[in-house]
Amino acid sequence: MKKVTLLIPVYNEEAALPVLYKRLRQLAGREEGRYEWEFLLINDGSTDRTPDIIRRLRQEDPRVSYVDLSRNFGKEVAMLAGFDFCTGDCCVVMDADLQDPPELIDQMLAYWEEGYDDVYAQRRNRGRESWMRRHLSLAFYKLLQRMSRIDILPNVGDFRLLDRRCVMALRQMRERERYTKGLFCWIGYRKKGILFDRADRAAGKSKWSFPKLLDLAVEGITSFSTAPLRIATVCGMLSAMSSFIYAIYFLLKTLAYGDRTQGFPTLIVVILFLGGLQLFSLGVIGEYVGRIFAETKGRPVYLASEYNGKKLGYDTPDNVNHKPIY
Ligand code: UDP
Ligand code: MG
Repeated sequence: MKKVTLLIPVYNEEAALPVLYKRLRQLAGREEGRYEWEFLLINDGSTDRTPDIIRRLRQEDPRVSYVDLSRNFGKEVAMLAGFDFCTGDCCVVMDADLQDPPELIDQMLAYWEEGYDDVYAQRRNRGRESWMRRHLSLAFYKLLQRMSRIDILPNVGDFRLLDRRCVMALRQMRERERYTKGLFCWIGYRKKGILFDRADRAAGKSKWSFPKLLDLAVEGITSFSTAPLRIATVCGMLSAMSSFIYAIYFLLKTLAYGDRTQGFPTLIVVILFLGGLQLFSLGVIGEYVGRIFAETKGRPVYLASEYNGKKLGYDTPDNVNHKPIY
């Protein structure tokens, strides 16, 4: 029998977990004879009662597995940990807050059986969120689309079914600054989208603050495109060229009419403009250098402290990435 892993990163979801588990049990019950199930919960350093609830679920139901990370690493990294510990023939990534309806998984499994490797859910609407967030996010996707060479789909979240070979591919991408939505597209394989309506959160609050989203956006651009560096170069070249032309014009004008120390405002404007441009370019370069810095330290992407009751991190470095357990 094929095994299906449901990979769920959880961070302070004590309110959502019981509801989630109930829905998962229903789902697995419906598909009981056809698949073996694993509910893999990645506890991303929760500080509330989440770990206790997970342990209790594990005691009651052997289909529940869990990994404790040693601290909060963020959802992107929690997903990587999930890929490392996933034992199924396919893996469905979903949120703990039931914004991704588990009912869609039946449909995903059907497509998987047809031979698709990556069945992603595309939102028809985006649930309740502010006007600002919706429009900023759409603008970001448009920008990213133009800057990077691979297609990164708008309105597609992390909710998707991945065949085992996609999971294996994602395991190999050990970058620390992760933009998983882009990685899903990068790996390729046979993809299929299904449309769905995104629900509102079942309980609790969204863990994404505005700065965190901005961070993710910068991550998306810098890890999939070097276009900003190119833009900086082109701007630099253009302004250098125009200043050269301006210098010649100015020289001729002075020769013909003499100089009466005019043009002070122009001067200030040009200085400010170039200064701004230089700072901006430096910032862009800095973003990339910062990423190089983070990668060259060569640290593990995350540390796991416990897997299904077994404490990790004593003898073999099995709590560190590069050596998945399954
Ligand atoms: N999450 C996580 N680590 C974090 C933040 C969030 O594992 O640092 C999990 C969270 O528990 C949830 C999923 O990532 O299962 C999505 O989080 P959230 O619902 O806050 O994001 P949104 O739906 O608003 O994009
Ligand atoms: Mg959510």
